[in-house]
Amino acid sequence: MQKIKQLAEHEAHKIAAGEVVERPANIVKELVENAIDAGATKISIYITNGGHTQIQVVDNGYGMSPEDAKLCFAKHATSKITSVDQLHEISTFGFRGEALASICAVSKVILQTKENDAEQGIKLIRHNHTFIDEKFITCTNGTDITVSDLFYNVPARKKFLKKEETDWRTIVQLFQSFCLDYLNIHFQLYADGKLIHNCPTMHDLKNRMIQLFDASLEHHLISLAPTKTGDCTIKGIVSDTQLWRYNRNQIFIFVNKRWIKNYELGRAIIKAYAASLPKDRYPIAALFITLDPHAVDINIHPRKEEVQFLHPRKIETALYEAINSALQNHISAGIIQSSGQIIPMKSDAPVTTSPSSTLFTSIAPQPFKTTHQAIAQSPISEKKSLVQKPAYAQQAIEQPIQHTQAQQNEYTILGVAHKTYILLEHTDGIFIVDQHAAHERVLYELFCKRFKTLPTIRLMFPELLQFKSEDLDILEQYQQLFLDHGIEFNRMGSHELTITATPIHLKSVAFKPFLQDCIEEIKELSDLDQSAFFDALHKKLRAQMACKAAVKAGDHLTNEQIKQLLHDLDQTENRLTCPHGRPTGWLLSKYELEKKFKRIV
Ligand code: ADP
Ligand code: MG
Repeated sequence: MQKIKQLAEHEAHKIAAGEVVERPANIVKELVENAIDAGATKISIYITNGGHTQIQVVDNGYGMSPEDAKLCFAKHATSKITSVDQLHEISTFGFRGEALASICAVSKVILQTKENDAEQGIKLIRHNHTFIDEKFITCTNGTDITVSDLFYNVPARKKFLKKEETDWRTIVQLFQSFCLDYLNIHFQLYADGKLIHNCPTMHDLKNRMIQLFDASLEHHLISLAPTKTGDCTIKGIVSDTQLWRYNRNQIFIFVNKRWIKNYELGRAIIKAYAASLPKDRYPIAALFITLDPHAVDINIHPRKEEVQFLHPRKIETALYEAINSALQNHISAGIIQSSGQIIPMKSDAPVTTSPSSTLFTSIAPQPFKTTHQAIAQSPISEKKSLVQKPAYAQQAIEQPIQHTQAQQNEYTILGVAHKTYILLEHTDGIFIVDQHAAHERVLYELFCKRFKTLPTIRLMFPELLQFKSEDLDILEQYQQLFLDHGIEFNRMGSHELTITATPIHLKSVAFKPFLQDCIEEIKELSDLDQSAFFDALHKKLRAQMACKAAVKAGDHLTNEQIKQLLHDLDQTENRLTCPHGRPTGWLLSKYELEKKFKRIV
């Protein structure tokens, strides 16, 4: 018995149509993209019952001639390319000429359209593969397409339509993406006859976001400094760490001006907030990535929602770093604005002026005497004055010591909350300093400054560690880099190595997880070009070392150690954030306190 049968063309087309048209939002997307391609400056979208009953898109674009209006429903009808070779260069949305054909294969379509200079427009009704009505009409310039009876002829698909609310939410998100992408278009969204979103054109993205999401965003949006890594440019706006959403629906990523969904890029964005947002809370973001069109394939997905990158890791890293540094700068600016100085303490005893590295010896669980001497003799304190400090820090550093002490006397250590947060009282309010983040920052800067000159100790009983042989290959390849950071090891056969010397700061660190983390970092960065790679690797290695060597949340610190930590932190250049971008300190301002307790209104 013959099993294989060829489908009639209109049957096959119904199936193919399903790829483009699966949900009402897909239709909205195709229609709005066509309107944008037609140069529209105003686009109104009317949705009835989540799009299950009707979808209508009205634009004021350049419209179609009566001949084109009839042709546009034909398969592979497009005015946008003439050959497949042009796919990469195309800057408009359409390129396959199958959206309208696909939509009308599974629904009833009414099209009204008029070109700007035409006297009359045309109205066509197409259903069941035929024009059931066509006539000339008087209408405004542009195009008005109404789609109804969705999946009338594909009952299986109709049955699997999602809930109306679900489809409505997807349409709203799509609408938001268009608004963010095209500031110069006036968009309107109606649900069941009611105007839900009215978004006239906007000059800038920030105001568009406020217009679209809500006014409370106004003081919580951060513009990224446009960054360029190779061919990849990133710009956009993200929310600060004071505001969040319960899902990731307001994270929008655009690649070459197309809204895309990409799990890895989404993850890179969320990772930048990992330390500053509570678990399962998400930022708001509108990020625009520009790439060489040849470095991205937008045709892997029938609806062009997903894309494939030639160098995905590079883009993820660039995105992460752009957001991370924007957040850091923002946190710094916030703290400086509200306090001026972060290092607060009231000390009865004279403030020590020892170099910052003594922090290690005073905080680390069992300090080595010899180590202490080695560091105390180190030339860090002289180096410090040579380092270019940010303007806000310069003043404090150049002040005579007496003055600094007087300032410091304005602060009182109140105690340590949860064995982690040092609480300080100041005339501006209450400072909260994270002991781990603060110590990480101090150590990180020390590791940067003392590159190749870190005091190390030779281990009397070298530690033997096991690794996969390919991981050992990686460590061996970067042996010099480790050595420059005071970590000396020798490979012993295919699976083992011994640590023979370590920076004194790392002497109580578990080396196996530390090196394994370093191996993973190296693998992650391997897509970068050489100079970016080494730059990133230095930072990561130092951050890893600082993280592992710093006091932990939960470690008990004596008052003296706290004073030392605060003092050392004050001497660092980027004292406001830890190397991962988390804030080291936070000010609960007196104003906020008074407001909370309704002492002021
Ligand atoms: P594509 O956009 O890939 O070319 P479509 O099936 O979406 O294919 O549209 C077919 C053609 O119909 C377009 O190339 C365009 O010439 C015309 N068209 C569709 N929608 C509009 C519109 N809103 N305004 C003007 N022309 C349109
Ligand atoms: Mg199209």
